[in-house]
Amino acid sequence: MSPEAARAETPAERIGADDARRRLAHERDARLAQLTAIEGGAPPGTDALLTSQTAAIRRVLAEIEQAEARLDAGTYGTCARCAEPVPAERLEILPYARCCVGCQEHTG
Ligand SMILES: [Zn+2]
Repeated sequence: MSPEAARAETPAERIGADDARRRLAHERDARLAQLTAIEGGAPPGTDALLTSQTAAIRRVLAEIEQAEARLDAGTYGTCARCAEPVPAERLEILPYARCCVGCQEHTG
């Protein structure tokens, strides 16, 4: 038995904070590339659909920023509504998820 095995994991260890940071950085790069592609490919402000698309991407970028702030604060991986741990599998799919699946369904 190694002493490490008996030690309780911190939330940051449970979700893998370094992995989370990498996933968030990757998500941001992908969104920024999308933004560049959309805004570079059409005259600005002429297409309502494009405007709503870029607005959605900017919302995600803001979510990513907030997730990084939660990583810094040590609250990443904790549901913002019920304070239960967000499953690591959910964070792998949606690294900027704020809530667990149950709470997300209630907020829409
Ligand atoms: Zn929850």
